[in-house]
Amino acid sequence: MQTLGRPKLGHYVAGRLIDGNGAATVPVYDPASGNITKSVALGDASTVAAAVRAARDAFAGWSATPPLRRAAVLFGFRELVLAHAERLARIITAEHGKTLSDARGEVQRGLEVVEFACGIPHLLKGEFSENVGRAVDSYSLRQALGVCAGISPFNFPAMVPMWMFPVALACGNTFIMKPSEKDPSLTLELAQLLAQAQLPAGVFNVVNGAKAAVDALLAHPGIAAISFVGSTPVARHVYERGTAGGKRVQALGGAKNHLVIMPDADLEQTTDALMGAAFGSAGERCMAVSIAVPVGDGVADALVAHLRQRIASLRVGAGDADGVEMGPLISDEHRRRVHGYVDLAEREGAHIAVDGRNGANPKDGGFFFGATVLDCVTPDMRVYREEIFGPVLGVVRAADFEAALRVVNGHECGNGAAIFTRDGDAARVFTQRVQAGMVGVNVAIPVPMAFHSFGGWKASLFGDHHVHGPEGVRFYTRLKTVTCRWPAGARGTTDYAMPTMR
Ligand code: NAD
Repeated sequence: MQTLGRPKLGHYVAGRLIDGNGAATVPVYDPASGNITKSVALGDASTVAAAVRAARDAFAGWSATPPLRRAAVLFGFRELVLAHAERLARIITAEHGKTLSDARGEVQRGLEVVEFACGIPHLLKGEFSENVGRAVDSYSLRQALGVCAGISPFNFPAMVPMWMFPVALACGNTFIMKPSEKDPSLTLELAQLLAQAQLPAGVFNVVNGAKAAVDALLAHPGIAAISFVGSTPVARHVYERGTAGGKRVQALGGAKNHLVIMPDADLEQTTDALMGAAFGSAGERCMAVSIAVPVGDGVADALVAHLRQRIASLRVGAGDADGVEMGPLISDEHRRRVHGYVDLAEREGAHIAVDGRNGANPKDGGFFFGATVLDCVTPDMRVYREEIFGPVLGVVRAADFEAALRVVNGHECGNGAAIFTRDGDAARVFTQRVQAGMVGVNVAIPVPMAFHSFGGWKASLFGDHHVHGPEGVRFYTRLKTVTCRWPAGARGTTDYAMPTMR
């Protein structure tokens, strides 16, 4: 691929941008025009080794830095991200394609995790028990793990890295971030803002690249923990390889989020919510609603009619153009893949209620795909089972509440699920029995705030910890319990039985 004359992004190691000269590169596109705008170096085992050396060398100093001082760096970083928020949002739109308002929202959601991490002195407070035995006290504390790594997907180039490194750094770890090779600029920008906030060199490093860089991170014995967010097959690979090497791993995978619509739901409000949840960011969100489950044929018919009407006026175009509500997909390859799924839906017997295959703006050369509604989808179809990750909403009709719940719980993924209803009892039973990590009641995209934790169930998360919030602090620290005696007269006594403190 010819990328001469265009900027080439390298890596950020030990406080310096390094260009990765000689390394293979891949192109980075502007999805709205289809043009290549830059290239990015593909890091390998030697790049990862250099980043681990830098992070390991920085660990002793950073982990011994008082949490209050670490928080002070994060307060400074917060101010810088705020000051640069508009520029960061424009970088996201230029490489990802999402609308500017969506990109601004993403920066804001990332910033909220930084704000959570600024409270780290409080979050790291341990537990203390006085007199667990005569003149014996016991206390528990949480300590940093060492060098941690993060691997992120293309769809949230700011927010997902910010789910990870602010908490990891606040806890005293050093960090290596491997962003998606499809929109790599944002992480390098954040690295430079961290440096401006006086983060010592080597505490935060960026290795760009793809599979080879990820596999090198998984294989490196100097990395204590890995946070991964991406598709389910890669999440499973990262979890299996990482834990086999003795690392702590949290690997968040793909999704197929359902929204159940009860007959008593307000259909106007539900349609509004569904339009944003299914077609916002062109459906390229792990919390996008990709399956609607209306209860009863009457609700289903009315819902599809409402959606058809709303999609007719949906404004599709370049993410930085005024008034645009839905941008392009990330790549031409992905656009073809989504197109293939709609062809498949037809062959599988779904009814194409709204067909986006001709794109909304075919003339401008970007990777556009129009909003699509597949009616009469059934759980045996591949278009139901597999994640399409585009602006394609499947409608699975259910006869009653129990049938709807069976549909939701029958899917292998369990990231988010929502119910729209005016019936408190139906909502309560749904929240109790649904097999998903994040649940919405009349909220279509129930993304937890930074001070709670984010994560799915089943094939949507491998590992024991959700990200950010209290779970993030637990993931990036390990527990130490100290039992301590300062006796006046215990010297010279030996007891060979198991200590019981009584
Ligand atoms: P992806 O799995 O293709 O890539 C994720 C990361 O893994 C990237 O950094 C990529 O370079 C790397 N990678 C890709 N293939 C690899 C391989 N074979 N071996 C090792 N590393 C590899 O995901 P994507 O297309 O960038 O992002 C979209 C996916 O991410 C969707 O499935 C979406 O649901 C998921 N996602 C999940 C969440 C969540 O919270 N559960 C959040 C955002 C995105």
